[in-house]
Amino acid sequence: MTASEKNLRTCKQGHQYYKSSDCPTCEQERKPAHGFLSVLSAPARRALENNRVTTLQQLSNFTEKEILQFHGMGPGSLPKLRKALEEEGLSFKP
Ligand SMILES: [Zn+2]
Repeated sequence: MTASEKNLRTCKQGHQYYKSSDCPTCEQERKPAHGFLSVLSAPARRALENNRVTTLQQLSNFTEKEILQFHGMGPGSLPKLRKALEEEGLSFKP
């Protein structure tokens, strides 16, 4: 595929990117400033959001296996999630 066949886009902030999705740079900047979602990579965060998991309480209703089945979620995110849960006195469903 040559560059001309790709869809070069420029977002409102002036970032240029080849993608059909939202601007990846802005996506990163939209990161929540705090909370467990802020420590995750963009794909992992989206995976949770797509499954309506936006709080640690909701996260604790899932097993680690179930979380890993979310599209975009990688095993590298699990330790971060586990730690975030522990800090709130929560844990994944056994
Ligand atoms: Zn942008």
